[in-house]
Amino acid sequence: MIRFFNTLSGKTEEFRPLQEKEKEVGMYTCGPTVYDYAHIGNFRAFIFEDLLRRFLEYKGYKVKHVMNITDVDDKTIAGANREKKKLGEFTETYTRAFREDLQALNILPANYPKDQPRATQEIPAMIELIEKLVKKGTAYVNDGSVYYRVTAFPSYGKLSKKKLDKNIQGVRVDVDAYEKEDGADFALWKKAKEEEPAWDSPWGKGRPGWHIECSAMSMKYLGETFDIHAGGEDLIFPHHENEIAQSEGATGKPFVKYWLHCKFLLVNGEKMSKSKGNFYTLRDLLTKGHDPMTIRYVLLSTHYRTPLNFTLEGVKSAGEAVERLTSCYAHCLHLNVFGIGYKVKVEDLTNWNVNLCSCLPDARARIEQALENDLNISVALAEVFDALKLINFCLSKKLLEEKSLKEAIDFFKRVDRLLGLKITEQEALPPDVFKYYEQRSTFRRDPRFIKDKTLQQLADDLRAKIESLGWIVKDGRPGEPSTLQKKRRAWEKV
Ligand SMILES: [Zn+2]
Repeated sequence: MIRFFNTLSGKTEEFRPLQEKEKEVGMYTCGPTVYDYAHIGNFRAFIFEDLLRRFLEYKGYKVKHVMNITDVDDKTIAGANREKKKLGEFTETYTRAFREDLQALNILPANYPKDQPRATQEIPAMIELIEKLVKKGTAYVNDGSVYYRVTAFPSYGKLSKKKLDKNIQGVRVDVDAYEKEDGADFALWKKAKEEEPAWDSPWGKGRPGWHIECSAMSMKYLGETFDIHAGGEDLIFPHHENEIAQSEGATGKPFVKYWLHCKFLLVNGEKMSKSKGNFYTLRDLLTKGHDPMTIRYVLLSTHYRTPLNFTLEGVKSAGEAVERLTSCYAHCLHLNVFGIGYKVKVEDLTNWNVNLCSCLPDARARIEQALENDLNISVALAEVFDALKLINFCLSKKLLEEKSLKEAIDFFKRVDRLLGLKITEQEALPPDVFKYYEQRSTFRRDPRFIKDKTLQQLADDLRAKIESLGWIVKDGRPGEPSTLQKKRRAWEKV
């Protein structure tokens, strides 16, 4: 049974999509506002959503995933004006950058419709929705702008748990993002101003407010009621609260069944801000030489409802974690390609009592169970690394036989479908690298190795040979074999 914490009910609930029999899930995730490069806090949310989608697909659901691009709002207009560019030209740069970043982090692109819907291309759907609201009296026109009448929607505040202040009648906000004006009437359509792009509408020239964009695009592509709406917790109010008011106000039907929100990200325990100098875009980190999969691991490995504290020490240990996974896989892959090259002794198997053919499927089941429990990634990863220890043990004691080797490779492939860490894109070791590696391991296993300078020198020479072939040897923890990793090139734009 899959369970998620639903912000709407404030409870962990069993996940039962609307099209349960067909195993179809409709999921909308708020896309980026393309006025700047996205920062790692943004990517925390996108990676949480990616894990959610991968997990549902792993469980056999067909996920219809829509993610919009907000290419017209207060921020994009201000940015384009600052740089004296046309809005479309300004937002195109950051839309493209965003897609490159997604690809670098191996985040599955939204799969419906074919291209991510852009707000500027969906204006008719927004106008149609606003017209419905005006007709019902839930929205009103004021001097060429249209506002949502919050008091006309009695359950306003049900997502954010804000109580409607009775004195807000007629209090209006024009800005897209606001924090304190609990329940103020907000703009659905903003009258054209000078230096702002504008579209024709029944209320004269103007442009949509940010909140109506997501209501219109999500319902256009997923229907009036759909399964999952996800995003960062900063979107709960006012954005998602307003989306509910707009959509349910227009259709009279429940808008979304499950609302999932991930917590914020801190850097060294502090809020990320440009003035504090602790503000990172993904690009900042990649150009400093950090591997994208390391960053993915950092953002993935804390449960989504726990605040994530981003530190450079955290990045370092994430890098080691990814490396342990990829090199173990590469080792298995090599044995698979070039043959095991040894006979497993039956008495060894009995003595050590490690049967990967039963241990790994059990581990897989526990990983699934952990994720079924509101995507408990911490438990899932602990299971992954317990299994990894076992595989490494079998590798170092030469206990892998053909069947268990296949099981190990299969294990990595399944885990990678869930985690998206590109473990299985690792290449098999070239024969020479493996030969030198095996020789070096024999030297290191020799009890005299700790004191014998000649043996140490031989091992060092082999390490140099391996490195000249483009691979790096890392000597493992006690009980784990040394591991090999292909040297990676510094990050280049995708
Ligand atoms: Zn949105």
